[in-house]
Amino acid sequence: MKVLVTGGAGFIGSNLIDALLKRGDTVLCLDNLSTGSKSNVEHCFKNPCFQFIEGSILDWRLLEGIIGKIDVIFHMAAAVGVKYIVDNPLDSIITNVRGTEKILDAAYTYGRKKVIIASSSEIYGKNKKVPYKEEDDRVLGPTNINRWSYSASKAIDEHMSFSYATKGLPVVVLRFFNIYGPRINEEAYGTVVAQFIKQALRREPITVHGTGKQTRSFTYVDDCVKGIIRSSEVEEARGKVFNIGNTRETKIIKLAKLIKKLSNSPSPIKRIHYHDYYGLSYEDAPRRVPDITRARKILGFDSQTSLEEGLEKTIAWCKEHYSH
Ligand code: UDP
Repeated sequence: MKVLVTGGAGFIGSNLIDALLKRGDTVLCLDNLSTGSKSNVEHCFKNPCFQFIEGSILDWRLLEGIIGKIDVIFHMAAAVGVKYIVDNPLDSIITNVRGTEKILDAAYTYGRKKVIIASSSEIYGKNKKVPYKEEDDRVLGPTNINRWSYSASKAIDEHMSFSYATKGLPVVVLRFFNIYGPRINEEAYGTVVAQFIKQALRREPITVHGTGKQTRSFTYVDDCVKGIIRSSEVEEARGKVFNIGNTRETKIIKLAKLIKKLSNSPSPIKRIHYHDYYGLSYEDAPRRVPDITRARKILGFDSQTSLEEGLEKTIAWCKEHYSH
């Protein structure tokens, strides 16, 4: 297989590339290095089956030159991280909407190539009814709250994907649930796992927003990568959307305690107000749990790595790579 991974120098993209190279694929990695980093793929440079292109998914000429030679496109490039989106709403919307529009257009125009689209559990917004099935409602706040622009942009990506699917494009949409693991970036987009590990390793206070009773379902990156690859292999996946996540629901306060324990950190756990971190106009999603019945049945997907095991591996990686 000759595959293109957009956002290949990012956290999920680079882990995916490792698995694809292992499978024997020829991999083209396209990344503009905005939140991705060359160091994530440096170890692949000596592999003759790997090629890195520094460039943008918004560059149509570049896409025109590439897509015709590719069998499968893994579209992982996106503006990610709530903090990043809250601080850069316009950039996020343009990258997510225009970028995906161009990828789908190029895939359709140059040979109806298979495309795997990375979407997000953010799609469900603040819907309180968990676990989420793929057909569940989206519940969003008002448009003056930047946070919801990410959900809206990913929803447009999904709508475009399904429209192309009806025109015959083999496209699969995957909704990722709080993916974590080695190469998680604490500076570029600061997810909670990366933040807490950084704080624990630096012996700084671990900052829990609000009560800490809000929950997430943390999914180890290797499990996520298996789901991505399966979605590109299974014919029945075409035109469908899948939740890709771990079904174990964890309170943020519990995550803080676990990271403190596993990293042997003396850091105190400190509760701070949401507004101190995100600014005044912010809303959080109270719970987030996937129903993975469909992914289990059609993709044979399961998320087997326990949070403890996944965090241990992540902390070990962060100890080597984060400045502390
Ligand atoms: N969070 C926190 N402390 C931090 C960063 C995040 O308590 O330093 C909380 C955040 O408010 C949210 C949850 O952790 O309730 C997950 O945040 P993240 O940014 O990882 O992504 P989200 O799941 O909201 O997209």
